[in-house]
Amino acid sequence: MRCPDCLKFVGQEMGDPEGEPELTDHRTDENPDNEVFIEGDIRLPIVCAECGTELKEGTFTMQEQLEDDDLKNHRGEGHELSLSVDDTESTERTDGKPGTPSRYRKTYYGVHLSYTVTCECSNFSVSGDWSDDMQASSFDEL
Ligand SMILES: [Zn+2]
Ligand SMILES: [Zn+2]
Repeated sequence: MRCPDCLKFVGQEMGDPEGEPELTDHRTDENPDNEVFIEGDIRLPIVCAECGTELKEGTFTMQEQLEDDDLKNHRGEGHELSLSVDDTESTERTDGKPGTPSRYRKTYYGVHLSYTVTCECSNFSVSGDWSDDMQASSFDEL
């Protein structure tokens, strides 16, 4: 595609993912078995490889349920859960068999992050990974 800034047909590359998921604890005294989620939107811009102008964007919605047998023991006073997210990074892959010419292969851009949830009492901690991607042509033009 043509970059509006350099007015050239240019290569595209991924920019830095933006946004951080948050921890939402739906548990209450009445419903102690309600879910705990890690959720939020991560935006991934696709930028001009020449000048960095954003050309397209994609949004990935994370909604992961936190599952751990021990979770039920960490609720209420003195057990506030907190989330830390490390390394939100962009990912790229192509499908198709090895040897297929690149123009016949589909490119997927996406995001990957790893997270850790810890309890205020420091006797509980759970880590996980989340990733999502979509075909490059499905990104919205800006
Ligand atoms: Zn440009
Ligand atoms: Zn705890």
